[in-house]
Amino acid sequence: MGAQQLTGAQQRPDRVVVVGAGQAGYQVAASLREQGHQGGITLVGQEDGLPYERPPLSKAYLKGTADESRLWLRPEAFYTRERVTGTGTVVAVDRPARAVRLGDGRVLGYDHLVLATGSRPRTLDVPGADLRGVRTLRTLRDARALRTDLAGAAHVVVVGAGFIGLEFAAAANEMGRRVTVVETHRRPLGRVVSEPTAAYVTRLHEERGNELLLGQGVAGLRDDGCGRVAAVELADGRLLPADLVLVGVGAAPCTELAEAAGLSVAGGIVTDEQLLTGDPCVSAVGDCAAFPDPRSGARVRVESVQNAVDHARLVADRLTGAPRRYRDLPWFWSDQFSVTLQIAGLDRGHDRAMVLESAPDCFSVLLFRDNGLVAVESVGRPGEHMAARRLLGGGVPLSPWEADAPGFTLRAHLKARSGGPVPAAA
Ligand SMILES: Cc1cc2nc3c(=O)[nH]c(=O)nc-3n(C[C@H](O)[C@H](O)[C@H](O)COP(=O)(O)OP(=O)(O)OC[C@H]3O[C@@H](n4cnc5c(N)ncnc54)[C@H](O)[C@@H]3O)c2cc1C
Repeated sequence: MGAQQLTGAQQRPDRVVVVGAGQAGYQVAASLREQGHQGGITLVGQEDGLPYERPPLSKAYLKGTADESRLWLRPEAFYTRERVTGTGTVVAVDRPARAVRLGDGRVLGYDHLVLATGSRPRTLDVPGADLRGVRTLRTLRDARALRTDLAGAAHVVVVGAGFIGLEFAAAANEMGRRVTVVETHRRPLGRVVSEPTAAYVTRLHEERGNELLLGQGVAGLRDDGCGRVAAVELADGRLLPADLVLVGVGAAPCTELAEAAGLSVAGGIVTDEQLLTGDPCVSAVGDCAAFPDPRSGARVRVESVQNAVDHARLVADRLTGAPRRYRDLPWFWSDQFSVTLQIAGLDRGHDRAMVLESAPDCFSVLLFRDNGLVAVESVGRPGEHMAARRLLGGGVPLSPWEADAPGFTLRAHLKARSGGPVPAAA
C-alpha cells in the first residue's frame, strides 16, 4: 500500500502541541522544523530546565564524568531560534474542543496533539518502600539525589537486575561501593536478553565484586529508627544491610491523560502503524506508545532512545505531508563497567541461540525463530552490531545453517547478500 493510501491523518496542521519534553517530545519539535513546519510548536514539559537525554543518568553523569550541560539535547538558543515554546504540566485533554488544560489554568488550543509523556519507574509494594534512602532513577533530579546519596553510602542494594539496576550497580561499584543486586528471576536482564548474554553479564558483575542474589524476592525494607532505610529483608528472611536502595523494577507508561480523554490504552497508548491514536488529531510517541511491531505483528511498547527518536521523526514527516508506516528496527545499548552490550532487533521468543565468539569479551549471540534471524546481541563487536541492524532492518535472510559455517561473520554475510559496503563500527 503506498503513501497515498495513508490518509487517516490530517494534512499539515498549523498549531502542534506536544505533551512531554523528553527525548521523543524534543525530537518531534526539532524534526517538525527540519521538515519545514511553519506553524506554532508548543512543547509542554513538566520537568525543570531544558530537555535532556536520560542514558547518562545511570552511567557517566552518575559517576561524575559528565556534567549537566552535557545532557542537554540542545542549548537554550535552539528553542528561541526555532520558536519552540512552553513549560508546565498538562492536566487534561479536551478532544472535542481540541485544547489542553495546564496545571496553572492556561488553555492551549491545538490542530494536532502529540502525546510524548514517557514512562515512570515502578515502585515496590512492600513495607518500608517509602523510607528515605530508597530511590528510583528516571529524572535528572533523581540522579542528582543519587549522586549525593552515593557519596555517603557504604552498603548499596539494587532491587531488580534490569538495564538501569545493573548500570547503577556497575557505576556504584566503580565508585568503590559494596553492591548487592537482588532479582526475583533466575538470571539478570531476564526479559531482554538470551541465556548466554545473561550468563556473561552475571560473570561481569561477580568478577568485579558485585553480589547477585538471583531468584530472590524482597519482603520489606527496615528502618534505622529515624525514617531512613537500614536493611533490606529478603523473602527468605535474610537481612542485607543497606544505606541506599535503588529500585529498578521496570517502568510503566504514563497513560492517564490519554485514558481520561477517552483514547484507547492497552499496555500503553494504542496507536496504528502511523503512530496515530483513534483520534486523527492525536499521535502518541516514545515510551508511552503501544504500536504494531511491523515484524511480529504484535502490539509492543519499547523503551529506548532509538524508538523515541524514530517515532518522533515519523510523526513529524506525517504532519509535514509525508506519511509512512513505522518500520524502523529497534536497537538498544547498555554500558556496564567498560563493556558495551548492543542489541539489534526485538526478541519476542527465540527457538535457537547461536554464539559467535572471537574472544571472551567479544561475542555475538544470534537469535533465530522458525529458522529466521530475529535479534542479535553483541558485546565488543560494534561492526557486527551494525551489520545486524542492516540485515534485520533490510530483511536480508540468514538461516542458522549459513551462520554455522566456519569463520562466518554478519559483516561478510551482509556484503555477500547486498553487494553494498560493509558498515563501519558504531
Ligand atoms: C537512567 C536511564 C538510562 C537509560 N539508558 C538508556 C540507554 O542506554 N539506551 C537507550 O536506548 N535508552 C535508555 N533509556 C531509555 C530512554 O531514555 C527512554 O526510552 C527515552 O527517554 C524515552 O523518551 P520519551 O520522550 O518517550 O520519554 P521521556 O524521556 O521520559 O520524556 C517524557 C517527558 O514527559 C513529561 N510528562 C509526562 N506527563 C506530562 C504532562 N502531563 N505534562 C507535561 N509533561 C509531562 C515527563 O516529565 C518527561 O519529562 C534510559 C532511561 C533511563 C531512565
